[in-house]
This record gives sequence, C-alpha cells and structure tokens, in this order.
Amino acid sequence: MLETKRIDGKARADRLVAEVAAAAVALKAGSGVVPGLCAVLVGSDPASRIYVRNKGKAAASTGITSFQENLPETTSAAELLALIAKLNVDDRVDGILVQLPLPKHIDPQRVIDAIDPSKDVDGFHAQNIGRLWSGGKALVPCTPYGCLMLLRDVLPSLAGAEAVVLGRSNIVGKPMAALLLAENCTVTLVHSKSRNIPAILRRADILVAAVGRPEMVRGDWLKPGVTVVDVGISRIAAADGKSKLVGDVAFAEAQGIAGAITPVPGGIGPMTIACLLRNTLIAAHRRRGLSEPAI
Ligand code: NAP
Repeated sequence: MLETKRIDGKARADRLVAEVAAAAVALKAGSGVVPGLCAVLVGSDPASRIYVRNKGKAAASTGITSFQENLPETTSAAELLALIAKLNVDDRVDGILVQLPLPKHIDPQRVIDAIDPSKDVDGFHAQNIGRLWSGGKALVPCTPYGCLMLLRDVLPSLAGAEAVVLGRSNIVGKPMAALLLAENCTVTLVHSKSRNIPAILRRADILVAAVGRPEMVRGDWLKPGVTVVDVGISRIAAADGKSKLVGDVAFAEAQGIAGAITPVPGGIGPMTIACLLRNTLIAAHRRRGLSEPAI
C-alpha cells in the first residue's frame, strides 16, 4: 500500500516566519525601515478578536510593528473609509488588514477597494486580483499562497498537472486557480453547481479543497498518488462527546491513497498567518522601491 505523506504546514510556517524575521532585521539594518501591519476590527465578534490578536502577536514576533484599530459595531461606512484613508497615507503602515466579516450595514467590497493596493496585504483589492490573473506583480491572498508553497515543497514540478480546486470563493478558490494556472497546471474549478464532482476529483493530480463541508471528499474520490491540500476547517462532534476540527477531506480514508495530504489542524491554518507577515514584508520593500527578499 502507498504510504501517504503528512504535509507539515506548521513546520513550514515556522520556517517562513523565521525567514520573515531575518529579512525584517536586514531591512532595518540596511534602510532603517521597520515594517508595520495595521489590523482594523469593527465590532466585537469573538472569533474575529482572536484572529486579530493572533495576527498581531505573530507580527510582533517577527519584528513587524503591529497596530490595531478597534471600532464599535455602530461605525458607519464613512467613518471606516475615513480611517482607511488615514492609514493609506501613514508611512509607518505597510499593510492594512480589515478583518472580515464587517457588520451588515457596511459593504466590504467598498472598504477593500478603498485600501491603497500597495498596502493590501490580504490581496483582495481589484488591482491585486487583476495583476494576479494577468501575471503582474501582485500582493497575493495569503491562504492560497500558503497552499502553493506547500505544493512546491512536495512536488518537484507542477507544470502539466491536473489540478482541481474545490470551492470558488474570492479569498481561496479563485486566487488558488490563478496561482495554479500560473504554474502551468491544467486547472478545473468545482463549485456547488458542478455535476458529478467525484468523477472530476478522480482526475486530479493536485486537489485543493476549500468548501467548508466536513469530510465531504471521500477516499474513493481520490486518484492514487494525488497531492491534497485541505483548506477547510469545520468543527464536528467527536466520539468522546467533545468536538474536533476536521477538513473537507476524510483524512483517514485518504491514507494509503493520496501521495501526500495536509492535516487539519496543522496544515494550511499556520501558513495563512505566515504568508500575511510575508506580504507585509514584501509591501514594505515594494513601496520604497527596495529589492525584495526571495522568501
Ligand atoms: P466560502 O466562501 O463559503 O465558499 C465555499 C465554496 O465552496 C463556494 O464556492 C461554494 O460554491 C463551494 N461549495 C459549497 N458546498 C459545495 C458542495 N456541496 N459541492 C461543491 N462545492 C461546494 O468558503 P471559503 O471562505 O472559501 O472557505 C472554505 C473553507 O476554508 C472553510 O472551511 C473555511 O473555514 C476554510 N478557510 C480556512 C482558512 C485557513 O487559513 N485555514 C482560510 C480561509 C478559509 P458556490 O460558489 O457555488 O456557492
């Protein structure tokens, strides 16, 4: 039976964080610049608070200055846009991250489009999306870039591979497809209206699953030897009466079939934050016309 490799996203993320920290030291020594990341949190959603706190801690651990703007739930779109305008011209801030979801009365796209694209470290601004698809220099969304880094580690070459991306969200599926296309994969995007999904998945040499449906992808949907990156995170009831986190792919069933697979947790989650720090570092270099570190 084929032995399935477990792709250790946590270890890869730790390495990337260390590389970002070393590059931040070099940037400060060479030009006196300390990169800055500002997280904007509107309202008091507990999960969003934790995400923002973790991102701030991770930034600080690499020598990136972490700023945080906490606004009340009742903040108007105009007030938020005024804050973004202020951060756009604040030279201490290289990355602006607006934690989503925003309260219902604020259109997130309007806010994202107001961010200076050179500080858009989430890579959600239309200019960065356009550059990503057209092969220009973009700030790339963190989760799919983290997936690509892991795929590059595992596979000697991605060119020509049949890559299937399950899920077509703006933050994961679509940018993932653009990145895989740029690597010369043959890319198929699968979504909720797709027909005969198992048959499409069985063609995949590379599968990136990002639907948020616990263990939707069964073992017999996988082509032997496929490399699986599982982005999904869902909490389900466990046998001991507690709960556990699972991905979009039935991890146990993939053993002996997949060539390699990311676990949940410990796969893509840590890579996302590490890639956010990488984007902030890159933005700090690009905004000043400095040559970027190759990390
Ligand atoms: P999303 O915006 O809800 O998008 C889900 C996508 O899956 C949609 O394109 C949807 O299709 C498709 N889909 C849903 N049910 C389907 C089905 N039965 N068959 C085929 N396609 C189906 O989700 P997301 O933001 O991309 O996140 C996806 C998962 O990744 C979630 O579990 C999320 O928590 C996780 N995530 C993890 C990280 C991380 O850092 N680890 C980061 C981001 C997201 P339609 O477009 O047709 O509706």
